[in-house]
Amino acid sequence: MSPRTIQVSPFDLVVFGGTGDLAARKLLPAMYQRDRAGQLPEAGRIICVSRRAQTREAYHGFVRDALSSHVKSSELEATVLERFVARVHYCAADATGDGGWAELAELLNAAREHVRSFYFAVSPDLFAPLSEQIGRFGLVTPESRVVLEKPLGKNGEGARAVNEAVGKVFNESQIFRIDHYLGKETVQNLMALRFANRMFEPLWNSTHIDHIQITVAEDLGVGDRGGYYDTSGALRDMVQNHILQLLCLTAMEPPDAFEADAVRDEKLKILKALKRIDERNAEAATVRGQYRKGSVGGQPTKGYLEDLGAEDSDTETFVAIRAEIANWRWAGVPFYLRTGKRLAARTSEIVVNFRPISHSIFDHTAGRISQNRLIIRLQPDEGMTLEVMIKDPGPGGMRLRRIPLDMSFVETFGVSNPDAYERLLMDVIRGNQTLFMRLDEVTAAWNWIDPILNAWKGNAQRVHHYPAGAWGPSASIALIERDGRTWTEDME
Ligand code: NAP
Repeated sequence: MSPRTIQVSPFDLVVFGGTGDLAARKLLPAMYQRDRAGQLPEAGRIICVSRRAQTREAYHGFVRDALSSHVKSSELEATVLERFVARVHYCAADATGDGGWAELAELLNAAREHVRSFYFAVSPDLFAPLSEQIGRFGLVTPESRVVLEKPLGKNGEGARAVNEAVGKVFNESQIFRIDHYLGKETVQNLMALRFANRMFEPLWNSTHIDHIQITVAEDLGVGDRGGYYDTSGALRDMVQNHILQLLCLTAMEPPDAFEADAVRDEKLKILKALKRIDERNAEAATVRGQYRKGSVGGQPTKGYLEDLGAEDSDTETFVAIRAEIANWRWAGVPFYLRTGKRLAARTSEIVVNFRPISHSIFDHTAGRISQNRLIIRLQPDEGMTLEVMIKDPGPGGMRLRRIPLDMSFVETFGVSNPDAYERLLMDVIRGNQTLFMRLDEVTAAWNWIDPILNAWKGNAQRVHHYPAGAWGPSASIALIERDGRTWTEDME
């Protein structure tokens, strides 16, 4: 065990959707890694639930397959693997029926003193029936929590209904609305950068910052999730949660402590201060896009409609938004947000563009003085880059150029960061809600998103097509160029 790893309390993690993709790709590997790090106490159990009738041994086969597919072979250690598998129980129960619940209750009640974490890794339609059954079978103990996966509703009203149903059984301090972006090392480093350094915070305002770009770009298409995606689209799937959360952490005032409610109070103020986008300004402030066939990384790829197997669809696979925050700190500083599928690269970053210097003492031979930029990379290579102007080395006179002061966390610390789910699952067991969304945040996010969705519908705002492998439609470039600015990848 590494000296900095502190074991969590004895727990039962109940994963509804135990045979699903999320459990196989993320939850089981994350718990295995925490076991490997020595963070799980001997008594810790993982109880997986789905409708399928199968023995515990048969389910162990699923666990082993999941780990061999999603954990590096160099990290699969035989003794840890056996210890981990022995923690895993399986229970067949239907969220919408009574079968299997008595067995689950019996299993859980064998360790009533354990921290009990219910993880809803199932379709959100099942959140209400699952909560109801958990309540009916008396499974909520004082030390219980529930983790809700996105998406929480398709609009504000849907989110309210889901939250109301869950809220009948669990109180707000027991509800963990997960957004795995918040578990990323860089996101927490954003808070360290802002609030553990003297040098950034005085500059973190409209006097010194020209604009901020937040990009979450995927190079993959919708794959076999097209059916789900077509009912959602990029605004609901990525902006309502991940991008708005990144925006909040970038823009919020310093909380008085790094504690759940203090942080969430400040994020909430940002969500409430976002200027409304509706029928009057949606055409100017937002761009919708959908990928057509093209090529990504030199490989030809299909268009969205072919991926979907449909003749027609109005769903956006790309969105760009010019957002503004109406408060003293950020007045006049646009936040350009964009996300999309089948873009040129898989990259997520926050780019803080500082204003130009107020006066140059150098003559034209020095060349152009580029603005300072701070780039906070979330993926693929978590790290930060601060771009500063220096004199070009050598005897050739005072010529200036911008260079990156680059820090890659993997290179600097020599280890790859734990997956976001590892940290978040441990936070759930510890009962730390700092990196989870509170109900009023979710409501405020929908209050900003709903008018955009309504405006798109009301104005019949078109989707612009873009070839797979581009950075979105040309209308997205026009959105930012109208302000005399360019997206990061087009800057020199
Ligand atoms: P999935 O692969 O379709 O798995 C769904 C799981 O739910 C299966 O284990 C299924 O098992 C179980 N299930 C279905 N109906 C049930 C019922 N009536 N009672 C009990 N269990 C039932 O879905 P997923 O991709 O894992 O996603 C799960 C949730 O996480 C979704 O809300 C999704 O939006 C969200 N999410 C997924 C990912 C991801 O990477 N996959 C990422 C972020 C969020 P049986 O058929 O055996 O019952």
